[in-house]
Amino acid sequence: MTGAAVPGAAPGASASSDAASKALRFLAKPLQLFIDGEWVAAASGETFDFEDPSTGRVIGSAAAGGAPDIDRAVRAARKAFEEGPWPALPAAERARLMMRLADAIDANGEELAYLESLNGGNPLRSTRSVDVGGAAERLRYNAGWVNKIFGDTLLSSARGSTLSCSIREPIGVVGAITPWNAPLFMATGKIALAVAAGCTVVVKPAELTPATAVRLGELIAQAGFPAGVINIVTGFGAVAGAALAEHPGVDKIAFTGSTAVGRAIMTQAAQSMKRVTLELGGKSPVIIFPDGDVETAARTAAMGVIFKSGQFCAAGTRIFAHRKIFDQVLQLIERLFTAVKVGPALRAETEMGPIISRKQLERVMSYIEAGRADGAQVICGGQRLPGEGHFAQPTVLAHARPEWSVMREEIFGPVVCVTPFDDAAGLDEIIALANDSDYGLVARVWTRDLGVAHRLIRRIKAGSVNINGAGGPGAGEGLPFGGFKLSGIGREGGHEGVESYTEIKTVAIGY
Ligand code: NDP
Repeated sequence: MTGAAVPGAAPGASASSDAASKALRFLAKPLQLFIDGEWVAAASGETFDFEDPSTGRVIGSAAAGGAPDIDRAVRAARKAFEEGPWPALPAAERARLMMRLADAIDANGEELAYLESLNGGNPLRSTRSVDVGGAAERLRYNAGWVNKIFGDTLLSSARGSTLSCSIREPIGVVGAITPWNAPLFMATGKIALAVAAGCTVVVKPAELTPATAVRLGELIAQAGFPAGVINIVTGFGAVAGAALAEHPGVDKIAFTGSTAVGRAIMTQAAQSMKRVTLELGGKSPVIIFPDGDVETAARTAAMGVIFKSGQFCAAGTRIFAHRKIFDQVLQLIERLFTAVKVGPALRAETEMGPIISRKQLERVMSYIEAGRADGAQVICGGQRLPGEGHFAQPTVLAHARPEWSVMREEIFGPVVCVTPFDDAAGLDEIIALANDSDYGLVARVWTRDLGVAHRLIRRIKAGSVNINGAGGPGAGEGLPFGGFKLSGIGREGGHEGVESYTEIKTVAIGY
């Protein structure tokens, strides 16, 4: 592999020269909309620029899709669903196309990782495995469900002999609205679930990170998906996203992003009773008991906050460490945070990249300031880093109180709160601390005491409870993922994921 000098990317960037030049050729022209199997400009002719967060420089432009473009895409998806071949295509053929797309992602993996790092700011070492590898894996896993979407045989309580059963049918046209923190994985993931269930789909990627979703459109065409089955419309959330959420021709919205927008989507969906799955934020607790593997717990917790620069819904941002090991945990995290190599996403040695945008960096810094003003101890970090890109130091805030904003709100940056608890507190109080959040996405517990683990698993209000480091990114596709409370509605992953793109039809047959 040779290093390539990349215009618009951070100095010192290094990647396969072939992948880099392919990616840059792709970005040289304005990105277009993928509607009904064709590449088109926005009806308005408008475009918007997007940047490399490692430098703050513009790296490309994309079509600013509006309501007319969304309408065209929804009509194409509707046609492919009602008249086109998609739901009627033999399951094996649908699965084969999904596998072919996964192979195309692998074959273009270096270029996709390069684009994802350049536009999304996550280090190449993580975009290669987590984003690109994860996207292909999600397609393959869900391709396995295509011919295993079953209903039940039912016993009716009515008199007489009837044969009753339920069958699962695809919901119809899905609008997928995706965020900037994992653009390729999120777009591919929602597409995989939708098409596995037999639905057709219109994807609206985040305006900050359209690059890999549009490149994915090219691979979708190359894989041979029929026109209209998958459509990709770039544009602004308040325009294209809102038009998709409001469109009467859409049967379901699958959304990942902020709780505020999730709430707005749910309100809009109420008008036409659209189905929704909402994968929203988190403020996930990590509880470390002294009998657990304290070193691994602290290291894993720290890495979980460095991953995607903390811009990760499942990041464990509230650490509760038993007082006996509190100082040890604090020191271990501090050591790791101060050693972590923060830098441009494309630089080979970078372990943590930038924050996605100037605005998001300001938001992260304002939370750190609020924590400081409330009285949290800043153990390390707490500053932005100089230069053109949007860099923040990994930051530890100690002794934060449950009522402070840094403990209650999703910061979405490399900031973790570490708070001690005592024996005297007892399990009830620890459980109350963990549950003292509007969110309920993931909880992580480190203990060797099976009894303690059992009680916490039952009583913590979260979509996933991970004991001793199990679960999390890389755990594979078989585990349903989603949240309690403000963390969302519905699950992605497992059979629950694909089934949430189906409707149940009950059939009763008399004689
Ligand atoms: P948003 O929720 O605004 O963005 C997510 C997606 O929704 C984007 O595609 C966005 O488009 C779109 N969108 C925005 N407004 C609307 C609307 N009215 N109707 C339909 N779609 C819309 O997240 P932000 O980018 O503003 O991030 C803010 C905070 O959200 C973060 O700090 C973090 O706390 C949380 N977040 C959580 C994520 C998660 O993984 N759960 C992911 C991203 C953010 P566009 O990009 O064009 O605005």
